[in-house]
Amino acid sequence: FAASGGGLVAYADARADAAAESPGVAPKKKVVVLGTGWAGTTFVKNIDSSLYDVQVISPRNYFAFTPLLPSVTCGTVEPRSIVEPIRKIITKKGGEIKFWEAECFKIDPENKKVYCRSNIGTNLAGNGEFLVDYDYLVIAVGARANTFNTPGVVEHCHFLKEVEDAQKIRRSVMDCFERATLPDLDEEERKRTLHFVVVGGGPTGVEFAAELHDFVSEDLAKLYPTIQDLVKITVVEHGEHILTMFDKRISRFAEEKFQRDGIELKTGFKVVKVSDKTITMENALHGESSVPYGMAVWSTGIGTRPFILDFMKQIGQGNRRALATDEWLRVRECEDVYAIGDCATMSQRKVMEDIMEIFRFADKDNSGTLTVKEIQDVLEDICIRYPQVELYLKSKQMSDIVDLVKASKGDVKKEALELNIEEFKNALADVDSQVKNLPATAQVVAAQQGNYLARCFSRMKDSEEKPEGPQRITKMGRHRFLPFRYKHFGQFAPLGGEQTAAQLPGDWISIGHSSQWLWYSIYASKQVSWRTRALVISDWTRRFIFGRDSSR
Ligand code: FAD
Ligand code: MG
Ligand code: MG
Ligand code: MG
Ligand code: MG
Repeated sequence: FAASGGGLVAYADARADAAAESPGVAPKKKVVVLGTGWAGTTFVKNIDSSLYDVQVISPRNYFAFTPLLPSVTCGTVEPRSIVEPIRKIITKKGGEIKFWEAECFKIDPENKKVYCRSNIGTNLAGNGEFLVDYDYLVIAVGARANTFNTPGVVEHCHFLKEVEDAQKIRRSVMDCFERATLPDLDEEERKRTLHFVVVGGGPTGVEFAAELHDFVSEDLAKLYPTIQDLVKITVVEHGEHILTMFDKRISRFAEEKFQRDGIELKTGFKVVKVSDKTITMENALHGESSVPYGMAVWSTGIGTRPFILDFMKQIGQGNRRALATDEWLRVRECEDVYAIGDCATMSQRKVMEDIMEIFRFADKDNSGTLTVKEIQDVLEDICIRYPQVELYLKSKQMSDIVDLVKASKGDVKKEALELNIEEFKNALADVDSQVKNLPATAQVVAAQQGNYLARCFSRMKDSEEKPEGPQRITKMGRHRFLPFRYKHFGQFAPLGGEQTAAQLPGDWISIGHSSQWLWYSIYASKQVSWRTRALVISDWTRRFIFGRDSSR
């Protein structure tokens, strides 16, 4: 094996082997989970570990509560308060689950193996590499920061993805302030050092800029009185507005608040190059310009990890941008591999792709036409399988698919209504326009998917049946595995100065101090353990009373 695996040492699961040898006891199926972020951790927390042999692989032996990462950049919350060791989470489940601190660098779906590399350990071959085989693979490796290949970004900018990034940013902010106070610096140099640039006007960039502004005005201004007036924060955004994923009212409020706070907004500017002291940007009107800066944070969105791109090529998804799954979160065209969270995109099946089958399914008497009753009988199933139908009816303020059909046929009596396939197609022609893409990056989506998949796995075991595919329309909606459906509870945009914008379901918008308190209570309640909850709340209390710590 060592020879064929290119020097890799195979990991032999002693327990599974023993079970295989004792007659009568079927060995547990091996579930390998890659990643300990939102998706992976939620999956592990919810899987029934008595049914499977679960192994978790991640280069990080902890879970990090990412929504509080921007707070870590300025010391509002301490890094240790937002992380929970994965082994603690596993141990709570009875010690059935194994964890390997290593990075997966290759997936071999044909032989059902993953190639891993530990950066701390050595093995017999001396390279820290090992192989793990699986019956089911759950990919939950998240995404990486995307630089769009802009030169100089990797070398000179900070990212804000991991706990280490937030810690580095904190040190770097303090370095800038200390450097700017040193003697023998001219005014220009002090100004440059205190120019903080945030590239990307999405939620993370905006929250970081707001947090930094609070840190400067509430804490640092008092400590660095001679240079406080030289501080400048700039947010550069390629689009026309910041926070475009939110309601227009929120994005406008944020822009106005930033203006009042003196945070410069450069919308319509695209950063094209970063050097150690200047950032070059491009604008349709003004062309190229360079500004000196002291520190820059790059937060322009996410990209796919290289080993996932390789895997996608292997399974014929090379032309896609993220790993595509069906609504059961199974990676398309790849047996027994699932993908959840930021590394995956779930595509919703279109009604028009299945229209013939839906028609045949509804046409119980094989008459070649559908009556009102036939349509009504399958309506619920259709809505479960194709949520866009329900959304479409809502958007047209129709109570029933029959109204839709009637509307398409003109004024016909309900009882007399009969549709052939062409008419049925016409009636549903616009329905797929309501297919909603999930937010590309969201902790809630990742967690809901992890939870959903864990529940599927528990049921899969006791029914010895796998989630049905979209092909099996005859089981539409009635089988044990309902497709994954994202439940939206709203989203927050903290804007600094104890003000947060909240966008809740039903177009409900709230901006200000009350939603800040809602934010505090929701994020306190969402903590993974009582320990981190206590730490986070005490960090907030400490900040209220004593301010943030400015030591490096
Ligand atoms: P992650 O949580 O990123 O987890 C990926 C895991 O995979 C990690 O454990 C990583 O170590 C591991 N991994 C990486 N490479 C490998 C490998 N090769 N092999 C094995 N394991 C690997 N979302 C919200 O909804 N609300 C917010 O307020 C919010 N704020 C955010 C603030 C910041 C600063 C950031 C960065 C993100 C924020 N998000 C927020 C987005 C949210 O964090 C992500 O959507 C979520 O983390 C996605 O979960 P995931 O499990 O897919 O990926
Ligand atoms: Mg994960
Ligand atoms: Mg995470
Ligand atoms: Mg996703
Ligand atoms: Mg019929």
